[in-house]
Amino acid sequence: MKQLFYILLLSIFLGSVSYSQTSGQKDSIDKLLQRMAYERSDNEEIERKIDELLQEMTIEEKIGQMIQITVDVFSRITEYNESESGIIHIELDTAQFIPFLTKYPISSIINGYGFTPENWIEYENAIQGLNQKYTRLKIPIIHAADHQHGANYIHGSTIFPHSLNMAATFNTDLLTKEGQIVGIESADLGHHWILGPIADLGVNPLWPRIFETYGEDPYLTKSMAVAYLDGRINNPDIAPYKQATCAKHFLAYSDPKAGWDRTPTDISNQTLMEFHVPPFKAVIDNGIHAIMLSSSDLNGVPVHGSYEIVTTLLRDHLGFKGVVITDWDDIYKMARYHKVARNNSEATLLSLNAGIDITMSPFDLDFGDILLEYYKEGIIPVERINLSVARILRMKLQIGLFDNYLPRNDRLEKIGCKEHNEVALQASRESIVLIKNDNLLPLNKKTSNILLAGPNANLKRVITGGWTYRWWPRTDDYFPENMHTVYTALQAEFENSTIILADSGEIVKKAAKADVIILALGENTHAEGFGNFNDILLPENQKMLIKEAQSTNKPVIIVMIGARPLIATEGFNKCSAFIWAGLSGVYGGQAIAEIISGKINPSGKMSISYPAYSGHILNYNHKSSDVLYDIPPKDPLTAIAWFGEGLSYSDFEYSDITLSDTIVNFNSTVKATITIANNSTIDGKESVLWFISDEYATITRPVKQLKYFEKKLVPAGEAERFEFEIVPEKDLSFTDSKGKQIIETGYFTLSVGDKTARFKLIK
Ligand code: BGC
Repeated sequence: MKQLFYILLLSIFLGSVSYSQTSGQKDSIDKLLQRMAYERSDNEEIERKIDELLQEMTIEEKIGQMIQITVDVFSRITEYNESESGIIHIELDTAQFIPFLTKYPISSIINGYGFTPENWIEYENAIQGLNQKYTRLKIPIIHAADHQHGANYIHGSTIFPHSLNMAATFNTDLLTKEGQIVGIESADLGHHWILGPIADLGVNPLWPRIFETYGEDPYLTKSMAVAYLDGRINNPDIAPYKQATCAKHFLAYSDPKAGWDRTPTDISNQTLMEFHVPPFKAVIDNGIHAIMLSSSDLNGVPVHGSYEIVTTLLRDHLGFKGVVITDWDDIYKMARYHKVARNNSEATLLSLNAGIDITMSPFDLDFGDILLEYYKEGIIPVERINLSVARILRMKLQIGLFDNYLPRNDRLEKIGCKEHNEVALQASRESIVLIKNDNLLPLNKKTSNILLAGPNANLKRVITGGWTYRWWPRTDDYFPENMHTVYTALQAEFENSTIILADSGEIVKKAAKADVIILALGENTHAEGFGNFNDILLPENQKMLIKEAQSTNKPVIIVMIGARPLIATEGFNKCSAFIWAGLSGVYGGQAIAEIISGKINPSGKMSISYPAYSGHILNYNHKSSDVLYDIPPKDPLTAIAWFGEGLSYSDFEYSDITLSDTIVNFNSTVKATITIANNSTIDGKESVLWFISDEYATITRPVKQLKYFEKKLVPAGEAERFEFEIVPEKDLSFTDSKGKQIIETGYFTLSVGDKTARFKLIK
């Protein structure tokens, strides 16, 4: 019989937290005042300023602080009348903007497009200038921007791979540098609040936004999100500015049952607590300023109306004291789509009671009218409004916005500079995963004829994906001229070869002269719900391309490009090499060609599992009963590559796994070590992933779980020692449905590469 112990009680206010969600729950005035006192920071100056402002502000001024509006509403944007260079321009429409400063002086504006830095500066000066002129208290407006993978709303900025690819690098330094570079390239332009990192888990390959996540594993997600946040928060290079941060989208947005964006999620509390909550907890513990809510209905209650998620879990259980922001128009969607409110007014009350602070409404001031009415009727007390306003003012004061709200133009040469682009190039190179290689790659540079086909062979936007210079880039017009497609990159990399482009139907004929066929397959770009699809299988026309190519008996390399791993198992089984390129940034084309040529030794490992079949999609950390092998499966393969897999051109050998002890008690630690030898003539970087399996437990355990990773260069012919210190409280415990950490005695297996070691946990 196993023994069970509770080691940690995370709950701050409540002994245990129950998530039987009911809408309509809210805080009493006493509770609101208690929260107000509890959330005060130890910066006396900031708290004094908040107190003074709250004393002085009218109710309309307070309500205005809870409103965020999109720039589209009061700007003239030349988006639909672009110049040939693809550069668009934004200009403030003063007459349209002034009402947003007078009725309820708004707190925040959001987003934009890929405008030039000079244009942004002009625009932000105009915004803040009018705010100073038309508002009584002149509280600076905070501009929020979805700079998702680089400062992507700035023309000429440095564009990184998307997060799913960044996670595949297993290189946390790159994430910290990305965080810093985003800051350096946007802070001077008046972008004070960057909406990232994403702490959602990428567990569902049907979900069109999986590319925005750091993949399916909570430990990797947490490590990447914290590394990025570190670069964003600790960034002396942007002084005197500081930028606010925002993790999104709390909670479990990323695993909709039916796959489509913003559709319902139904997830057990235990799974929520063990898998989805920890990345958010980690960013909260590391100083995140704000949290954006999930648009979805979670277990029957839309998150935007859920007191249990927004207040009980996020604030009371996880201790978050910052700003909660809604997602786009999501309060009203509770009336329009979720139908838990009859109208916008009821929906607004639900959200206010749940605990939101700022609403991204984002087109009008209706939220203000509704809230004012509730206030006048005595339904929403001023204490509730004060609580949100205090949080928002605190965030503004913490980043020094009152002193530094204007942009500056004396450091613009940093935007898209060589040094930043070198980091992005390195990230692209490390973010691509070689899944299969039947001794074909790297291709000999003397290969004389390479046939290239597929819908993604000669396009730029498919390599970088959504949120690049535009929310949804639909043409290649606004991409840098010197950015490579796969085609131009192969031409540059194989300068003595002929790269033959072929359309479907031409492959057999044109392949007669070819030594090898490369197929650049996958998806076109999309943003959010525009990527909803009904089938995760590779489309028929692309399957036909694979068949055509394979009918030639020439070696075929498949390069899969796009937001999601489209299922192409038959093609995979018969091809000679398969590369998962995902969305690898502006340098993705170049990196793909360099990996094919061997200029770069691939070092990416899968941040998600690449499914083999659409009827049996699993994450690597599935339960043992997910694969019921008592009933022999027709084909036991459920993934063509599991999380953590990825090949190199080096030949790494794992040996000599040791444990400092095979019996460990709760309060001691065990040191594990392994030797990785590079038995090849090529230097290679290896990410060493340490997994632990709990053999028996009172709550079913994943077959294995990542607990630690480290990436190092292992020079050709040399060996490196890697270490991992197992801390039972952290590495051998798990969470129950109430968020309590449990630790149980028994046997555990540590696995790293193809090596394992077993040890016993005693009390
Ligand atoms: C997305 C958010 C984003 C917001 C503002 C929403 O549609 O879900 O991730 O931050 O738009 O652009």
